[in-house]
Amino acid sequence: MAHKPGAKAASDRGDDTALVWFRNDLRLADHRPLTEALQEARHVLCVFVLDRKAGGAWALGGASLWWLHHSLAALAEAIGKAGGTLILREGDAAKIIPALASEAGAASVHCGRSHEPVLRELDRRVEKALAQHDIAFRSHRVSTLFELDTIRTQTGKVYGVYTPFARTCRGLPDPEPPLPPVKQLHAPDGKFASDRLEDWHLLPTRPDWAGGLRDAWNPGEAGAHARMQRFLADHLDDYGDSRNIPGNEDGTSMLSPHLRWGELSPVQVWHAAREANGQGRARKGSTGRSGFDTFQGEILWHEFAAYLLHHNPAMPDEPLRPAYNRLRWRHDPRGLQAWQRGQTGVPIVDAGMRQLWHIGWMHNRVRMITASLLTKHLLVSWQEGEAWFWDTLVDGDLATNSASWQWVAGTGTDSQPFFRIFNPVTQGRKFDPDGAYVRRWVPELQRLGDRWLHEPWEAPEAELERAGIRLGDHYPRPVISLTEGRDRALAAFRNEVRAA
Ligand code: FAD
Repeated sequence: MAHKPGAKAASDRGDDTALVWFRNDLRLADHRPLTEALQEARHVLCVFVLDRKAGGAWALGGASLWWLHHSLAALAEAIGKAGGTLILREGDAAKIIPALASEAGAASVHCGRSHEPVLRELDRRVEKALAQHDIAFRSHRVSTLFELDTIRTQTGKVYGVYTPFARTCRGLPDPEPPLPPVKQLHAPDGKFASDRLEDWHLLPTRPDWAGGLRDAWNPGEAGAHARMQRFLADHLDDYGDSRNIPGNEDGTSMLSPHLRWGELSPVQVWHAAREANGQGRARKGSTGRSGFDTFQGEILWHEFAAYLLHHNPAMPDEPLRPAYNRLRWRHDPRGLQAWQRGQTGVPIVDAGMRQLWHIGWMHNRVRMITASLLTKHLLVSWQEGEAWFWDTLVDGDLATNSASWQWVAGTGTDSQPFFRIFNPVTQGRKFDPDGAYVRRWVPELQRLGDRWLHEPWEAPEAELERAGIRLGDHYPRPVISLTEGRDRALAAFRNEVRAA
């Protein structure tokens, strides 16, 4: 077999070098690829490959690139402290990884297994190319609690609905405890060319829109652990009730981007939550479940989304229920733009969209409300909303984003029915009763009283005047009448989906 210049033939290598290929698992603790590589070899070459084109339509969005820059900087520092080096390369991993492994004389390549279709296809290409150099390819579970292929119904079918899926998961033995952090690394001899992170230009400059992201987040493994510990120690017990109140900034963990980039694994979160629960008061919320139970349920939603994508690779692009291919979504650039900019005139929706733009994250309750307004009242396709979230979220995750959009739009296998349409006014009154959330993100409504805050278009002129608001001037009139939008959505569903 011909080898590239500089590459070592299999016969020249001892088994003392392995290559670890980092992807969506930017951490040193509970990292099976790294741990197993170290059990196998004395020297480990750590590599990250950026391929901007790899995702096709789902190439990384702006907010994700911002996060990636900082997370890679943190990982490189941690690897450096342990005595290793993180090699950065840009291009097609199916060429770069085999070439680097060969150059280093590695006997094996270890990486985290992904449920994303593009990465699974890439794995196949890398494995094939490595085989030509006689180098072993080993992929490990890094981003789910369980092996997704092993979870089946009693008749061996794939689950399409969350509740029985979660019940089965809860009945399984707990995932094994997380692996300890890797503390010592030895890079192989030789100098391996690496790009400079700054030269990738992942951060926005003209304009620099990332100020809000910088204030809100601390990307990297250390920041992830600090956030997790704080949440579990102080807020887990109350999670059952507080998780639905977007104005309560400690109501949820805000761990999603750390999980998305694998700075934390779900296994670590699962075990840490169980431990914290043992120490806490296990207070029951209004649902009768403890904060811990409810939190575990959300981690299982994350698992379920990965599972759905694993078994439905077209989920980001096509409705899981084919009947919805018949629904004629509206082409409404004006409505879409108002939604994206937080200028719909519906306060809770605008608050959510502005929070998203400002800090790259939105509260889950408000994600549901904003997605519902787009797909139901405006009847704009869920794929448009999914793409906007993908570009602007720091936790933009192919599985969770597409599964959640399909859930809200009613096109998923386990969705709320299409005809269940959130009323954003009722939702606002129920979950933001004191208006803390709306007033924070829509400051032009700050002085409007609670009675009218969630529907300023109904407010008497005198109230608006007192609050210093002229509708259509200081704050938009609603882009759609909620009643008309709702009726139009129901008619479209009746005529095009159910009737067919
Ligand atoms: P917590 O309430 O603290 O929950 C802990 C963890 O559980 C989260 O970090 C997350 O990993 C998981 N989780 C919580 N809620 C859900 C849920 N509904 N579905 C799946 N997993 C959940 N989440 C993403 O991580 N990436 C996305 O791209 C994404 N897109 C979404 C799009 C829409 C339209 C909707 C309705 C939801 C989306 N979600 C997405 C799910 C959810 O909104 C976020 O996971 C959650 O808001 C993250 O905040 P948190 O970490 O404080 O969650």
